[in-house]
Order: sequence, then structure tokens, then C-alpha cells
Amino acid sequence: MLSVQPDTKPKGCAGCNRKIKDRYLLKALDKYWHEDCLKCACCDCRLGEVGSTLYTKANLILCRRDYLRLFGVTGNCAACSKLIPAFEMVMRAKDNVYHLDCFACQLCNQRFCVGDKFFLKNNMILCQTDYEEGLMKEGYAPQP
Ligand SMILES: [Zn+2]
Ligand SMILES: [Zn+2]
Ligand SMILES: [Zn+2]
Ligand SMILES: [Zn+2]
Repeated sequence: MLSVQPDTKPKGCAGCNRKIKDRYLLKALDKYWHEDCLKCACCDCRLGEVGSTLYTKANLILCRRDYLRLFGVTGNCAACSKLIPAFEMVMRAKDNVYHLDCFACQLCNQRFCVGDKFFLKNNMILCQTDYEEGLMKEGYAPQP
């Protein structure tokens, strides 16, 4: 994706819009750049060094570190098993992470508010009612 090419005719830099008169220019994302102009949108580090990897997303050019920070993944949602992007708010229960939208009782879909009691059983999130019902069915709790 990133390559250094000898300058044949002056090209406009995609970063500063000025002509590139340097002997070498960078080509990345089908555009040309001054070595100093191709940098990470977050931390300003130069991405022009040959061999360095740049990442793009949503019109941003990012270094690997910032890309992973912003667009990496936290893990798989324990409820829907889809990936959770690193920047997204998550709910955690024990070792599991959940999308906010997925964090609900997996039997009755009740959502939990802060302070609400929830239970984890066989990696399923359960509300108190369903949890206790399950216990009763299995005979763990004293029958009324
Ligand atoms: Zn430039
Ligand atoms: Zn960066
Ligand atoms: Zn999910
Ligand atoms: Zn429930």
C-alpha cells in the first residue's frame, strides 16, 4: 500500500495541497504525500517511513497503535458472539464482555439498570426471576 517512487513530474500533496518537489514522494491510498505530511491523524507520528504500516478508516489515516485503539476489537460479545469494537461501551460480567444492547436476560430479554441484580449461569445472563426459576426446576432451591 505504501511505496516510495522517484518523482517524475511534480504532484500535489494530499496533505498540504502543495506541489511535491522532493526527490522522493510517498504514494499511499492512491495519493501523493510529502514525507512530513503523511502522518497519523491522532498522534502526528510520521507514517512515511518505508515499511511502516498505515491504516485508514472513516477518512482518517492512522498509525497502527491508534488504529487498534480506536478500531480494534475488545473481544466477542458473549451473547451474540459478534466482535465488539474497542471504542464501544461494553458490559462486563466475569470474563465475558457484551454489547450494551446485548446485555439483557437471555430468557425474558429484561434489560438491566445500574444496580440491578443479574446472574450468570452456563454463560447466560439471567434476571433474578429466571435464575431462581431455573434453580427451582433443577431442584437446587427448596420447593415452596
Ligand atoms: Zn505536503
Ligand atoms: Zn498515531
Ligand atoms: Zn452482542
Ligand atoms: Zn429474565
